[in-house]
Amino acid sequence: MSFLIVDLCGLLAAFLFIYGLKRMASPVTARSGIRVAGFGMALVVLAAFLYAMHVTPAARPHLGTNVLLAVIALVLGLGWAWWRGKRVAITAMPQMVALYNGMGGGAAAAIAAVELLSHEALTALHLGVALAGALIGAVSLSGSVVAWAKLDGRLRKPWRIKGQKVLNALVLLAALALGLAALLASGGPGPGLTAAFFVLALAFGILMTLPIGGADMPVLISLYNACTGLAVGLEGYVLGNPALMIAGMVVGAAGTLLTLLMAKAMNRSLANVLFSNFGDVSLASGDDIQGQMKPAEASDAAITMRYADKVIIVPGYGLAAAQAQQKLYEFVKLLAEAGVDVKFAVHPVAGRMPGHMDVLLAEAGVPYDMIFALEDINDAFPDTDVVLVIGANDVVNPAARSDKSSPIYGMPILDADRAQQVYVVKRGQGKGYAGVENALFYADNCNMVYGDAQAVMAKMVQAVKALGDAGAA
Ligand code: NDP
Repeated sequence: MSFLIVDLCGLLAAFLFIYGLKRMASPVTARSGIRVAGFGMALVVLAAFLYAMHVTPAARPHLGTNVLLAVIALVLGLGWAWWRGKRVAITAMPQMVALYNGMGGGAAAAIAAVELLSHEALTALHLGVALAGALIGAVSLSGSVVAWAKLDGRLRKPWRIKGQKVLNALVLLAALALGLAALLASGGPGPGLTAAFFVLALAFGILMTLPIGGADMPVLISLYNACTGLAVGLEGYVLGNPALMIAGMVVGAAGTLLTLLMAKAMNRSLANVLFSNFGDVSLASGDDIQGQMKPAEASDAAITMRYADKVIIVPGYGLAAAQAQQKLYEFVKLLAEAGVDVKFAVHPVAGRMPGHMDVLLAEAGVPYDMIFALEDINDAFPDTDVVLVIGANDVVNPAARSDKSSPIYGMPILDADRAQQVYVVKRGQGKGYAGVENALFYADNCNMVYGDAQAVMAKMVQAVKALGDAGAA
């Protein structure tokens, strides 16, 4: 009876994970989706404790100590995650996701290590699956930690050496060979073989991630996320735990889809992400751009927009960095009240993680019917009076359309340059994440409004309000 309750908890949790994920598909229901999936996770943790209580005493000689250790780990993990989650800046979210993802991979690898070193005889199938999960989980752990260090600015340059790919392939082959030896070892792999296998798997994760440019870290994290899900699912099979299997497969499938979507949004193959030098500033093109950047005052730009018929706003990473979303929406409301038709155009990889801009705009209270995806709004740019590009760069870089030598060539972009007038809000001459120059900034129909996005938006709000006050007086 009690095992039935444990199994039912697992089944219910699996349902909640899938239902929660479905709700995360829309910004309107995403918050509740996260709560639903979190509730499922709490349920499955409870089921794990219930399970431990009901196995036969012979199978749980150290139950008291193990439960105590599990409770300590839970309290530490929950406390740390709560504390960090409350404090993390929205711009540092990708780093946090990388770390948490790495921990998931590490947890799967740790389960595998316990199984490999346990004295219980595993079938060849179980041993093979445990080894596969161990390899994938360990690669995901060390790779995610390197990705975290890159995103956090602790590792600034891609580390590339001659013969890197051969070295990586040799390390992977050596790890696979040790895995095979562990599979064939009579009486199971001993601690020495297991440790050597893990060292090589961890080394492969590090070596594979080090040469990849910072601009590709979010795609890589998404890929490691898929790997973590797969590793967890495989270890779920080894433990005979259906909830772990389903949760792992859901994460694995979602991570794979997300990776492919991100690669598609940049018009790049996964192999290109993993093996090209995207984001390497030394490869950046754009030296042949003609013209010069023309500065404009925030107030002039604001007044032009106030008297325009149609305005499109293109937000990018700088909006998140400046936390200017509230001020931006205040400005948009003033324009809308004055009868201007205002829309937001959101590029799928604007910012530093998928949905970054949608989250920011939702946080500021921007109605969803004002927000348009690239494919739904791109045709509207030629018919638009003013485009306000705020903290975006790569996602409006026309080189992606025309410059075959550009590292971002082929990435679909928002055609902001095709509008009548463009204002770009940014602090100075900083490049985009891909490290390439942007011809839009030098175009005849473009003016630069220099400054931190939040300060600029405050000035624009002030300018439009002053106009209203003057009209009323
Ligand atoms: P970019 O990183 O291309 O450009 C951001 C611009 O914002 C910079 O040029 C910077 O210029 C400006 N900026 C920075 N801080 C501020 C501030 N406080 N106030 C005003 N401006 C500021 O951003 P995009 O959103 O256009 O492009 C995203 C990039 O990230 C793409 O290359 C994309 O491929 C990549 N990427 C995104 C992923 C995602 O999932 N979203 C995944 C993988 C990659 P300055 O320093 O002069 O202020």
